[in-house]
Amino acid sequence: MKPSFTSNNSHPVLIVGAGQAGATAAAALQKIGYSTPIILCGSELNAPYERPPLSKGVLTNVLSEGSIFIHPASLYEDHAIDLRLGHTVISLDTEKKFAYFSDGSAIEYGSCLLSTGGNARLIPELPKDAPGVHYVRTLQDARALRSALENQTQVLVIGGGFLGLEVASSARTNGHEVTLVESAPRLLQRALPAVLSDWLAERAIDFGIKLKLGVEIESVSIQAEGAQVHFKDGTMVSAPVVVVAVGLVPDVELARNAGLQINPDNGGISIDARCTSSAPDVYAAGDCASQLNTFFGREVRLESWQNANTQAQIAAATIAGLALPKNVVPWFWSDQFGWNIQIYGEYEASLEYVLRGARPSSTGPGKCVFLGSKMGVLRHAIAINAGGELRQLQPLFERQISCVTAAFTNQEQPLRRLVEEALRANAEH
Ligand SMILES: Cc1cc2nc3c(=O)[nH]c(=O)nc-3n(C[C@H](O)[C@H](O)[C@H](O)COP(=O)(O)OP(=O)(O)OC[C@H]3O[C@@H](n4cnc5c(N)ncnc54)[C@H](O)[C@@H]3O)c2cc1C
Repeated sequence: MKPSFTSNNSHPVLIVGAGQAGATAAAALQKIGYSTPIILCGSELNAPYERPPLSKGVLTNVLSEGSIFIHPASLYEDHAIDLRLGHTVISLDTEKKFAYFSDGSAIEYGSCLLSTGGNARLIPELPKDAPGVHYVRTLQDARALRSALENQTQVLVIGGGFLGLEVASSARTNGHEVTLVESAPRLLQRALPAVLSDWLAERAIDFGIKLKLGVEIESVSIQAEGAQVHFKDGTMVSAPVVVVAVGLVPDVELARNAGLQINPDNGGISIDARCTSSAPDVYAAGDCASQLNTFFGREVRLESWQNANTQAQIAAATIAGLALPKNVVPWFWSDQFGWNIQIYGEYEASLEYVLRGARPSSTGPGKCVFLGSKMGVLRHAIAINAGGELRQLQPLFERQISCVTAAFTNQEQPLRRLVEEALRANAEH
């Protein structure tokens, strides 16, 4: 029999935002047998779905939309979780513990989890509703882009981050002529060392993408048939479909207006290790939350699938009064140009990198791991088509011990053995 946990009062747990973190927290509470009613409300009309496939399989049409839902519909139909779609919370009274909805209704909550995610960062000259202009944040956005692509050949992608690259890759996979423009001098400048950015750029070009790096928008003219984008280097690209992928703005208006503490540097709702905000019984998780991360050693707001799930599990454990799940090594993945890229940790310009394996090229599949360390301590690892190898490194990332990273380049030895040796050497030290 499932254990049953009840809060001090009978008022429901209200989860605001039915995305990755909200849906995961609701299911976690339900799974641990928390008997207080759980209301999961979201502005969107779709049941909670995974966003990563939107720029990948959903766009290329290899994934059916039915396969991206986070939970089976039965979880809501059985009323284990009261899912209220098309329900937007417009204000919170954290003293009286009331949430007010756009339809005029209100709910008194016992606990409230804010998992409001974020919105695509807009370029004012390329408004969301302009003809041919697309942003990709929601399933509705992905559907609109997919249908626009059905009738057009040329696509301009603005932004050489993970999202822009994935959209470019998907569009090219489906045979479109794609130009990708990035204002920084290299791709993924804040996430990858220069050598990897260069590889990725070569890979994108091999894949048939026209790359324009280090160019900024000068002006835009929008016509019924699409946009003409003029760049400061004097060039112009005209395309019937323009996809803007220049980052995310955390959705914290509700929290800000309710007086919750917001981190001034990253714009997220400040939460402690238990995902508790500055207001009583209000928690936050996912893209909208800013938390001290033990791996990074500073407060960060992470925009990743893993982080949304992890913080959701922590928030659920806190609400139910249970022990916190263990810390995880920050992990992110992306699929682009036929490469599966998986990352632990974060890029810093001061890291020293070594390469294990062979770089995938246009002539061969290849797989490799780039290991970035500071004084022998692993801080960053990027696996290309080598997710299994990345996982072998997990104990070193967790323990942050110093090792001879050059030893990992020895392909004669399985990585698992080399990691065991490094752990043993450290224990004997
Ligand atoms: C196209 C795309 C591709 C991605 N690919 C990857 C990837 O490959 N790897 C990876 O690690 N991560 C990826 N991510 C990031 C990952 O999907 C997000 O980090 C994750 O979805 C964040 O979850 P969340 O619950 O915080 O926010 P979301 O999933 O965005 O959910 C927030 C929800 O809250 C709702 N909401 C907001 N305000 C209110 C309100 N006041 N009342 C009610 N509802 C409200 C919103 O409508 C939204 O539905 C991708 C994201 C996108 C958009």
